[in-house]
Amino acid sequence: MFLCEGSLREETAQLNKITAPQSPSAESIAIKLTEAVHEHRVLPGMKLSEDEVGEIFGVGRTVVRQALRTLAHDGLVTIERNRGAFVSKPTVKEAREVFEARALLEPQTARSAAERTTPEDVAILQRHIEEEHTALASGQAGLALKLSGQFHIEIARMANQQTIETFIRQLVSRSSLVIALYWRRRNALCESHAHHALLNALKERDGGTAEELMKGHLLDLLSQLDLSSQPEKLLSLREALSG
Ligand SMILES: [Zn+2]
Ligand SMILES: [Zn+2]
Repeated sequence: MFLCEGSLREETAQLNKITAPQSPSAESIAIKLTEAVHEHRVLPGMKLSEDEVGEIFGVGRTVVRQALRTLAHDGLVTIERNRGAFVSKPTVKEAREVFEARALLEPQTARSAAERTTPEDVAILQRHIEEEHTALASGQAGLALKLSGQFHIEIARMANQQTIETFIRQLVSRSSLVIALYWRRRNALCESHAHHALLNALKERDGGTAEELMKGHLLDLLSQLDLSSQPEKLLSLREALSG
């Protein structure tokens, strides 16, 4: 498992270069932090100090707290009393639950999506797959991971079931933490090309096949997770010295 390869400061300072100079809103900070988590630039267990985040984005504590609360609401950040905010570290049980919930929701959603697939939807999904291949080819595993998650969210959007889409969005988001902690292989992030087969079924408007493929795909993902043991705990210096 990679430990923190760069500080949050470096990561977000880079992100900041491409944004407007005016003071960002809590919402836009939440979006940037969420992306950094989805792309594994910020890893489970990392402390998100209010001061540091505030400094990076050039905002006060109130705005930072608001942004962190949004991530906490989405299950990406855990706020601990007197200790501050950390990127969440799902337990083995939570990891399993996330994928079991996905296996309950997504196959049926893929069926509904197949029944309403438009040529525009096909083009969007096709583009997702191509972008993921490009990201993989250029060694951007984190970006590829985010794109492969978005593929699932697009299918939920196509099904036009807003409540379920909201759930799936949150589950896919939390899956990025699960994958950071428990994924066995670092390669094959195009998920053995399972998305290609799904795209074909959607294109054919074949709901039954789409449902079966999605079910198999999620079981396959679950089987790629090493849920046999707790992940190594990322200790802070203070924790490491207090034992
Ligand atoms: Zn997938
Ligand atoms: Zn592929």
